[in-house]
Amino acid sequence: MSQYVIAIDQGTTSSRAIIFDRLGTIISVGQKEHEQIMPQAGWVEHDASEIWQNVQEVIGIALGRADLTRHDIAAIGITNQRETTVVWNRKTGKPIYNAIVWQDTRTQDIVDRLAADGGIDRFKEVVGLPLATYFSGTKIAWILENVEGARAAADAGDLLFGTTDAWVLWNLTGGAEGGVHVTDVTNASRTMFMDLKTLEWRDDILEAFGVPRSMLPEIKSSSEVYGVAEDSSLLRETPISGILGDQQAATFGQAAFTAGESKNTYGTGCFLIFNTGEEIVHSKNGLLTTVGYKLGDGPAHYALEGSIAVTGSLIQWLRDQLGIISSAPEVEELADSVPDNGGVYIVPAFSGLFAPYWRPDARGAILGLTRYANKGHVARAALEAVAYQTRDVLDAVNADAGVDLTELKVDGGMVANNALMQFQADMLGVPVVRPVVAETTALGAAYAAGLAVGFWSGLDDLSANWQEDRRWEPSLDATERDRLLRNWRKAVEKSSNWVDE
Ligand code: ADP
Repeated sequence: MSQYVIAIDQGTTSSRAIIFDRLGTIISVGQKEHEQIMPQAGWVEHDASEIWQNVQEVIGIALGRADLTRHDIAAIGITNQRETTVVWNRKTGKPIYNAIVWQDTRTQDIVDRLAADGGIDRFKEVVGLPLATYFSGTKIAWILENVEGARAAADAGDLLFGTTDAWVLWNLTGGAEGGVHVTDVTNASRTMFMDLKTLEWRDDILEAFGVPRSMLPEIKSSSEVYGVAEDSSLLRETPISGILGDQQAATFGQAAFTAGESKNTYGTGCFLIFNTGEEIVHSKNGLLTTVGYKLGDGPAHYALEGSIAVTGSLIQWLRDQLGIISSAPEVEELADSVPDNGGVYIVPAFSGLFAPYWRPDARGAILGLTRYANKGHVARAALEAVAYQTRDVLDAVNADAGVDLTELKVDGGMVANNALMQFQADMLGVPVVRPVVAETTALGAAYAAGLAVGFWSGLDDLSANWQEDRRWEPSLDATERDRLLRNWRKAVEKSSNWVDE
């Protein structure tokens, strides 16, 4: 019997293939970055063909490094950057435009147009989301309205839409020669088109957006066999049996299966997810309502989510645009070169502010500069901004849930940063806990895939795999914490009403 499961993690900056054993231990990894295409301010694109090419390569790398073949792999799971929108031609298999990435804000005009009739919460009761550039819906509408020939091709039934999970699945199962056009409930819940209760596409909303239903993938659960890899694949005949959007996958990989459990992932952005079980909870405090997971015929599990657009990408900005560090980990040393933030605060509102503020009119700001301030203070302020934003989201979660979280499970690339994790615990006033396997996103997808084929027998098997690696206890004096938070919130106010005209 096959001893391993492979997860394809199609992320914002790179695609990875990770092979796990039954204990959830990483056996090998293949990884490749793809180009971030930024044709104008506020626009972010990926080449979907490059992504598919990279996915095939990283599968080969992961298998090769572990000296394994498809016979060793019981199942394939897929997890993905959510919302990022690919539209392709079903006959040629080619994308008709670059993928429009979740951070891209070009569709603000479409958002405003739709919000003119009923406000940004027009569809929120049904889909759990406010109208925002973030979700796939307006990105699809933009492609249909702006790419030459797109509308006619869509009306003729030639175009398909997918987030990158569906794009990878369609290609992996044969593409134009019979590829399976399916997405899972968690990804579907980020389009603005899926009814959270029925888990089906809503014709009235599709009509408001001008998107033909024929473009959309079929919605399936997060854990069932969708198809098998096609003949030319290194994984041919292996079942693809798990799909979860990256943040839901991380929650699953953290074994946060039951109501009241939560996690925060620190990557390009930060995403705090709070499991509300089988109950759909509508936030009064700027959080999204989303599907957490659905296993086969089982009930859907829902979640509240606080999405922060810019955290790790602020560190990339220090590296690539300001050039004050040459690699992301260096930020820790630079921040440690000063004893405190020296009164400097950064509000990284590069694409407005997401949860819990939802201010599309905000832009990035560095406040509190004096002649004394140096790059150490800027580095420190950047790391602190990550923790402050998370604190504001956690306050919203506590208010919506009516109970206070007692600890926060964390994962993602930035949790390697000890200074940040300590400051985070200080700002939250509760312990921050990191598991041994920090690649929880890929692990969650592997779990969903493995469950569907009986590789793991149930959730108890998975919970038993979760192990604590490190815990940071809050140690900062509450008066100082409150002073920092007050200043931060003043800075947030000042960054708003600032779209450059
Ligand atoms: P994603 O899955 O969103 O591509 P990852 O979870 O791989 O992101 O995390 C990468 C992000 O973490 C990058 O934005 C990078 O700037 C940031 N990062 C990586 N290491 C550190 C570090 N030691 N300190 C601060 N930020 C870091």
